[in-house]
Amino acid sequence: MHHGRPVRQQKHNPVFKGLITCLLCGGAITWELQKGRFYGKCQSRRPECKGRKFLREDRIESQIVNMLGRLTCPTDEVAEWVLNCLREKHHDAAFQRQQAIDSATAKLDRFKRMDGELYDDKLAGDISKERYEGKHEQFIKEIEEAEDVLIRAQKGTNALLAERILLVELSQKAAELYARKSAEHKRVIIKHLFAALAVDEDSINLEFTSFVQSLASKVRLTHKIIGVAK
Ligand SMILES: [Zn+2]
Repeated sequence: MHHGRPVRQQKHNPVFKGLITCLLCGGAITWELQKGRFYGKCQSRRPECKGRKFLREDRIESQIVNMLGRLTCPTDEVAEWVLNCLREKHHDAAFQRQQAIDSATAKLDRFKRMDGELYDDKLAGDISKERYEGKHEQFIKEIEEAEDVLIRAQKGTNALLAERILLVELSQKAAELYARKSAEHKRVIIKHLFAALAVDEDSINLEFTSFVQSLASKVRLTHKIIGVAK
């Protein structure tokens, strides 16, 4: 259909569109609407793929909701505490980076100025050519070193830590958000919290990313501790 009817297109918006791979052939699972429900299947003509059962969108979604529920900390205080630790770390790292940038910039300015003065001395005939060349070479070396430090410090953006803060925040709201979000939003949640989804012979592998997995195990531990303490 090329007569672009947006309404129709919007209806055909399976949550797992492009998200699930067939483990047998590596192809994408495609989805079709049957009586108001999406069914997914590998479209490969390979005999081992052709004979497979349809996946049901609603069943995978309930597995997802179930898993997301395991990410929620038993109390808001615990989640806030974890987030504050991460934020503090992020803040410290940013501070250190800024310090490195400031000191490298100061060094760069200082040696550029000294090199300029050295040149003036040479022009005025205050120093010999040999002395000028020896000193100039040393200053250039210092300038290059400072420039290297500066470039490295400016590159490091603490992006990983910032991303983890967002992931912890997302993980705490994910179960609730998932239940009321559109297909697009659901895909964002799935892409950020789950490892690549793949379907085996009959079942789908649902796994968190390793970072989210470690979050889930900490949440489990917290449940245990709080449970015992009560
Ligand atoms: Zn396949």
